[in-house]
Amino acid sequence: MAGDSFRCYLVDENKTQAIVERSLDSLPDGEVLIRAHWSSLNYKDALAATGHSGVVRSLPHVPGIDVAGVVESSSSDRFRPGEEVLVTGFELGAERWGGWSQLVRVPAEWVVRCPEPLTLRDCMILGTAGFTAAQCVAALQLHQVSPDKGEVLVTGASGGVGSLAVNILSRLSYTVVAATGKPASHDRLLAWGASRVLGREAIDVESAKPLMNSRWVGVVDTVGGKVLSTVLRETTHRGCVAACGMVGGAELQVTVYPFILRGVRLVGIDSAMCPRDERLSIWNKLSGDWKPQDLESFASEVALSKAGDAVERILRGEIIGRTLVRVDD
Ligand code: NDP
Repeated sequence: MAGDSFRCYLVDENKTQAIVERSLDSLPDGEVLIRAHWSSLNYKDALAATGHSGVVRSLPHVPGIDVAGVVESSSSDRFRPGEEVLVTGFELGAERWGGWSQLVRVPAEWVVRCPEPLTLRDCMILGTAGFTAAQCVAALQLHQVSPDKGEVLVTGASGGVGSLAVNILSRLSYTVVAATGKPASHDRLLAWGASRVLGREAIDVESAKPLMNSRWVGVVDTVGGKVLSTVLRETTHRGCVAACGMVGGAELQVTVYPFILRGVRLVGIDSAMCPRDERLSIWNKLSGDWKPQDLESFASEVALSKAGDAVERILRGEIIGRTLVRVDD
C-alpha cells in the first residue's frame, strides 16, 4: 500500500475477478477508515465474488461481509487511530465495497471494538458465521430449548455456521446431532462436540406427510429448502427451529400442522442488520463462555490473491469449517 492507494479483490462489470490497486477516493463514505488485517469467506461472499445480483448492488464490487483490522483514521469520537476493530454484516461486501481490501471505510455505527481476549484473527475465524451460529443458539435458548430436553440437530454441519453452531451448543451441554453431506468431516464434527453424525440424505427427503416422527427439540438449519421442510415436521412439541440459510434452496414447502399441532417455533435469523445492542451482547458471549476452546481447529487460510480458488470450493459445498482471507500480505 503506497500513499493513499490500496489493493483489493475487485469483481468488474464483466464479473471478472482480479487483484487491483485503487485510490482512497474509490471507497464509499464513512467515518471510520480501517486498515484490514483479516477478512473471511462466507457463502454470501462467494455469491458476491461471482457478481450474483441477489447480493451485489452494483459492479464493480469488492466482496467481504467481514473485516477485522486497525483504525487508520476516524472522524467519529467513538474510535481512535490504532484501535483494533471488526465489522460484520450491514451493507459491507453487499451494497458497499467489503473486506477483501487493504482499506475499508464504513459508518462508525457498524464498527465493534475487538472484544478481549479475541485477537483480530480469532474475530474473523468466527466472523459472520460464528455471529450467526451464536444468534441461532440464543434463539433456541429464548424459546426454552434446554439441554435436558433432548437432541438438537445442526444441518450443513461441516460449513462455517454449522460447525461453529455444533461447537457452541456442545459447550453449553446440549446433545448435538450433526447432519452433513461430507463423510470426510465426521471425525472433525465429533471432535467439535457432536454426539453423533447423520448423513444429509436422512433429512433431505421427499415426503408429503404433514408431520413425521418427532426427533429434535431444537434445530439450527443452515440449508433451507427440502431440509428445512423435513426438520420442521420432525421437531418435537414446543420445539424450535432457527433458520438462517438457503444453500439447499430458498423455497419452503410445509403445512401449518407442525405449528398448530406441535406448537413448533420457526425463528428467522438475520445477522446483517442485527441491532447494535444485540450485536454487542452476541460478541460478548462469543468472547466469553461461548468461545470455542480450539478456535484454530476451525480455520484454514487463504491469501487475498488466492481467494478465487476458495470461492469455487465453497460454491461446490467442499469447505469444512472456516476460511480466513489474509488481507495484509
Ligand atoms: P458454508 O458453505 O460454509 O456451509 C454450508 C454447508 O451447507 C456446506 O458446507 C454443506 O455442509 C451444506 N450444503 C452445501 N450445499 C448443500 C446442498 N445443496 N444441500 C444441502 N446442504 C448443502 O456456508 P456458511 O456457513 O457461510 O453459510 C451457510 C448458510 O447460511 C448459507 O445459506 C448462508 O447464506 C447462510 N447465512 C445466513 C446468515 C443470516 O444472517 N441469515 C448469515 C450467514 C450465513 P455439509 O456438507 O456438512 O452438509
